[in-house]
Amino acid sequence: MATIFSRIVKGEIPSHKIAEDENYYAFLDINPLARGHTLVIPKKEIDYIFDMDDELLAGMQVFSKHVARAIEKVIPCKRIGVAVLGLEVPHAHIHLIPVNSIDDINFGLPKLKLSFDELAEIAEKIRQEIR
Ligand code: 5GP
Repeated sequence: MATIFSRIVKGEIPSHKIAEDENYYAFLDINPLARGHTLVIPKKEIDYIFDMDDELLAGMQVFSKHVARAIEKVIPCKRIGVAVLGLEVPHAHIHLIPVNSIDDINFGLPKLKLSFDELAEIAEKIRQEIR
């Protein structure tokens, strides 16, 4: 059965898309730790990130870099933190999270409650900064 992220890529489940190319898709996390919290995934359905072949994994890092550069232009922060967990969704993904301190990347914290419109507005601003 297709993962929830594959269904997002196909448009069967809506997402706030940030960027896409032939191999990768980036979209806002629905339960963000911070405004601008974005997930980057390979379109190819692979559960564990370190099962990805070298080329696809390296490309995902470069794709993530361009997304991170766009996020930091929109969301004031010291850096974009990078995390990989994959404990919830069995489809490889990189979390890109704007951070100002180590506490901002604690997945045990309550998530932000952002409305659909707020997420849509953030996504639109970040999309405009994608190069
Ligand atoms: P992980 O697998 O890295 O532990 O966490 C999966 C992440 O995917 C979580 O941060 C969760 O909020 C996010 N997520 C789960 N389902 C959806 C969804 O349907 N849409 C979006 N945009 N994010 C999701």
